[in-house]
This record gives sequence, structure tokens and C-alpha cells, in this order.
Amino acid sequence: MTIQWFPGHMTRAKRQIEEKLKLIDVVFELLDARIPQSSRNPMVDEITGTKPRLILLNKADLADPEMTAAWSRYFRSLGKETLAIDANAGTGVKEISGKARELLRDKIQRQVDKGMKPRPVRALIVGIPNVGKSTLINRLAGRNIAVTGDRPGVTKGQQWIRFGGDLELLDTPGILWPKFDDPQAGFRLAATGAIKEDVLHIDEVACFVLQELVGRYGFVLAERYGLEELPPELPDMQSAIDVLENIGRRRGCLTGGGHVDYEKAAGILLRELRAGKLGRITLESPDDFELGG
Ligand code: GDP
Repeated sequence: MTIQWFPGHMTRAKRQIEEKLKLIDVVFELLDARIPQSSRNPMVDEITGTKPRLILLNKADLADPEMTAAWSRYFRSLGKETLAIDANAGTGVKEISGKARELLRDKIQRQVDKGMKPRPVRALIVGIPNVGKSTLINRLAGRNIAVTGDRPGVTKGQQWIRFGGDLELLDTPGILWPKFDDPQAGFRLAATGAIKEDVLHIDEVACFVLQELVGRYGFVLAERYGLEELPPELPDMQSAIDVLENIGRRRGCLTGGGHVDYEKAAGILLRELRAGKLGRITLESPDDFELGG
């Protein structure tokens, strides 16, 4: 499902999340570990307010482990706790409830001090489309439930999904819109498949990816596509096109006249990147962003 985000939808999404916040103790903010900054909704701080929040770096199986550790340190420096997970395989998912309880330690302790039996922690998952919200909800539920976001005009009874004895999750996640204003974020979102390719030109996305990857992962590209050693930088579009052309030749993406079909080459590169065929790759580093942002 592609959601077209218009101002009215954003207002509605924001309001729906604010309604749900009244029911819960903690927000699980789901990010894509390959693009933790670009997959953050620009207004998530404002929308979730003072609710305790745990950042879940999902799809960590596809991300560079060293970079995931760097991102966790970065978020911690901002006072935000993270957990790296793979909702598909379930890695890290069991630790979610312990981490959430840690965040709520004081509140739980107050209940205990009053002689109350601590009730399960109630949580809401929020995140942009395709980040893995349904996958995580199904994983926590231990079965496939039809996860639907709130849609205009459709009211659906919300249900709690019980995970173990001490976590309850709302079965309708909060769907947030991705970043639109930042062109780099747009390319990164397209590269990971978070936004549809047809929004941007696929060959442009591929050239962007090549420029981004060549420094840290140039050897991976060279090995995968049988290229000669790549320079540490592709300073302009033409140099990226040249690499894409070589990839196209190596993979036999030729048109009738023997020219390289760039779109086809781009499709191969992006498909293989997303499927993890190039190895575990992270597309942005905390160093790209100023601390405190
Ligand atoms: P939603 O729109 O946020 O509900 O996203 P989905 O749960 O539908 O997931 C989008 C895609 O990402 C699906 O193809 C999932 O299989 C895939 N996915 C979700 N979590 C993970 C993960 O941890 N690792 C990998 N490799 N893929 C994942």
C-alpha cells in the first residue's frame, strides 16, 4: 500500500497517535538500521511528547554491525535508548520487554512501593511505512494478524497483544510519514525501498547509492560486480554513471545497439543491495549529522 501523504493525512496521523498515547506507557519508535536518521519522522519528538521511548533499529540483519553500534552510541548520547532487532527472524525481539521495563523502572518501582502488583507495560509501535511495523507486531503476537493502519473513515476496535507476561502492545501501529524535504533522505529512503522507486528516477537513485557506498564499501562493489579497484570517491554524477555502466556491462544489461541499459543496471544494483547480496550495508553514519540533532 502506498500512502500519499497530504497535509490532511499528516494531521490525522498525528491526532491518531496522540489519542493512543493516552493508553500506553512507552513508545517503540521503529527505524531502519540502514538509515536511522532518514527513516525518522521529522516530527516524532513533537508527536510523542514526553512519553518514554525506545528506539528499535530494525532490519539490523541488513545493516553494518559496526555502524549499528555507532548509531546506538549516538542515540544514547542524546539520551535515547536503542535496541537492534531483526523482526523478520526475531533476533533481539525477546529483549524488547526487558528494555522497556528498564526505561519505566521508576514508575514500576512506585507501583511496587504502593503495594501494587505491576501490570504489563503497554506499548505502541510507531514508524514510517515499510519499516517493519506489521512484521514486528506479528512476531510479538506469535501469529499472523491482519495489521491495518488507521485509514480515513475506518474505525476499528483496537486490541492488545500480550507478549510474555509483562508486555502488551496495541495491534494498530502509528503510521508516520517519511521525510520529504531533504533530498538526501529521499534517495536513501528510495534506495532501501521505503519509498516507491517511481517517485525518483531509478538510475539517479543508483548513482546516488554508488557515490555513497564507494568510500566505505568500494571493495564490496568491486568484488560483487567484478570491477577494477574503485576510487575512494565518485566526485560527480558522470563518475557514478561510469561505474553503473561497468556494472551494466558485467551483468549483460545491453540494449539492441550494444549500449548499456542504465535502468536495468540500476535495478540490479538496488535489488541486490536491498536483498543484502552486497553484504551488510548502512547508508548513513552519525558523523553525517551534527550531534544534538
Ligand atoms: P510496515 O509497513 O512498517 O508494517 O512494514 P512491514 O512489516 O510490512 O515490512 C516491510 C518489509 O520489510 C517486508 O517485506 C518485511 O518482510 C521486511 N522486514 C521487516 N522487518 C525486517 C527485518 O528485520 N529484516 C529484514 N531483512 N526485513 C524485514
